[in-house]
Amino acid sequence: MLSINKNTVADFDYIKDQVLDSIDSFIYTKDLQGNYTYVNQAVLNLFEKSLDQVIGFADTNFFDLSLSKELKNNDREVIEKGIRVENEESSFIRAKNEVRIFKVVKKPLFDLHGNVIGICGISTDITVEKKLQEQVAEQSFLLDTMLNNIDSHIYVKDSERTFLYVNTRTADLFGNSAANIIGKKDIDILPKNIADHFYTSDKKVFETKTKQVIEETVKDEKGNNCHYISTKVPFNQPGKLPAIIGFSTEVTELFELKEKFKQLANIDSLTNLYNRRYFTLHIEKEYLRAKRYSHPMTLISIDIDHFKSINDKYGHPGGDQILIAVANKLKASLRQTDILARIGGEEFSIILPNTSIASAIQFAERIRVEQSELRITGEWDSEASISVSIGVSSLLTGDKSFDELLSRTDKALYQAKKSGRNRVCHL
Ligand code: GH3
Ligand code: MG
Ligand code: MG
Repeated sequence: MLSINKNTVADFDYIKDQVLDSIDSFIYTKDLQGNYTYVNQAVLNLFEKSLDQVIGFADTNFFDLSLSKELKNNDREVIEKGIRVENEESSFIRAKNEVRIFKVVKKPLFDLHGNVIGICGISTDITVEKKLQEQVAEQSFLLDTMLNNIDSHIYVKDSERTFLYVNTRTADLFGNSAANIIGKKDIDILPKNIADHFYTSDKKVFETKTKQVIEETVKDEKGNNCHYISTKVPFNQPGKLPAIIGFSTEVTELFELKEKFKQLANIDSLTNLYNRRYFTLHIEKEYLRAKRYSHPMTLISIDIDHFKSINDKYGHPGGDQILIAVANKLKASLRQTDILARIGGEEFSIILPNTSIASAIQFAERIRVEQSELRITGEWDSEASISVSIGVSSLLTGDKSFDELLSRTDKALYQAKKSGRNRVCHL
């Protein structure tokens, strides 16, 4: 038979006190008036009081209750409803002159007849954790606000193509919500060809483990080309799949502007034909290609005859109009591979890749006739007409550079002028 003597009980109380006093949480009981009937050492330390300064005293002595609203409410709830309350309390501690946040569990104490005679509670100081939590929440809110308002598409994707993060702009681009995209693979969110296109450059980052800056072009739902500059950087976290962080900025407008400038730099503004700059770049390219593959290549130089007199007769603006008409007619005569440029005032050149001298002479003759038959109307009475002189020459095996071809063609043109104009000469 188990017998408990007085000493055993005293020992047990002593051990119990030691255990309760060595716990960092605050353990206490209060009677119905709110006076403390038990507190552990942690409470005494918090209040900076001795046991006899606490037992029998109420919370008004230790807390500023006007700043400790949850404490009063929780205690009342436990006593009036006889229920357990689990809650957070932020209380102003008089001894410390500061607010501390506690996680509290408070339960009613009952007598033998089931009447509530007080409360017992365990409170744990979570001020530091709470502050950290607030800081993390604040930082995460700040980061979210920044990422969602930045003019770039930002995303994190792992090596198995699963999105770990997308900002609002990316979600909008994909026509989905961020919550729907995160955790899913790119191929489940995007059309396969687009997902695969993105993944090609993602893979480069995984393989090289270095930052990549890539120009990406994607068609939107209307079939328009959208251009992006994407920076993709490796993002590795211990114990997780390798991932990348991508920043893509749409540069369609800039890209198109750049293309437009490029084009403008190559186009003659009066006639809309290619200009001398473009011609020079291309003649070199075509020359090298013809040399490499031993293909024929022919050059035609066209100069309007007595254009000074045309200007004299129709005025400079009239001369401009005639230049445009000549250019349009030349353009209409071209084959697809021919490159026509206005290389000077009333001088034009045509590069004829893969064309023998014989067929180029025929072609030049056709141009000469077409131009002489041209009747140009404008703000003048009669129809204006012109004639052109044309020089033709082909690349020779001995040519060391395209300059030799150019000067031969010029000479042929000079001959055409010298021998009476309105004719084709070849060398
Ligand atoms: P030739 O038969 O020997 O070629 O005689 P030409 O008068 O055509 O030759 P020249 O090279 O002496 O004169 C070319 C003229 O073309 C001179 C210039 O005023 C005119 N010209 C050059 N560019 C333009 C232009 O953009 N608009 C107009 N209207 N005239 C131009
Ligand atoms: Mg000239
Ligand atoms: Mg001329």
